[in-house]
Amino acid sequence: MRQFSPRRSPYRHETRTVSCPRCGAGPGSWCIEDDGRARGVNHQGRVRAFLDARELTDPSPAGGSTHHPPRDDVRAVSCPRCLVSPFQPCTGSRGQSRESNHYERVVAFTGV
Ligand SMILES: [Zn+2]
Ligand SMILES: [Zn+2]
Repeated sequence: MRQFSPRRSPYRHETRTVSCPRCGAGPGSWCIEDDGRARGVNHQGRVRAFLDARELTDPSPAGGSTHHPPRDDVRAVSCPRCLVSPFQPCTGSRGQSRESNHYERVVAFTGV
């Protein structure tokens, strides 16, 4: 059994859906070595190109229910979970301030 890598890297076949900026391999084709042989792995630049493309194509409908409002905007409402006042950061179970808002607070803000 192979261990999963802790890094969230895309699968090779996913990366191959974009063309490679390094060797010029088209979508669906293997990356090519400098001497013309097919590489078993994709160039690092191709992986980055894939990740960039995925970010651009990510659906983010304005005002849609899947839209995540900016963290600071959410803080305009009080948190129903940890009961902090508006504009205060959420507090964790040990009383420390959380960097992110509670899910319930986001729901309270978006009204979804
Ligand atoms: Zn390549
Ligand atoms: Zn909270």
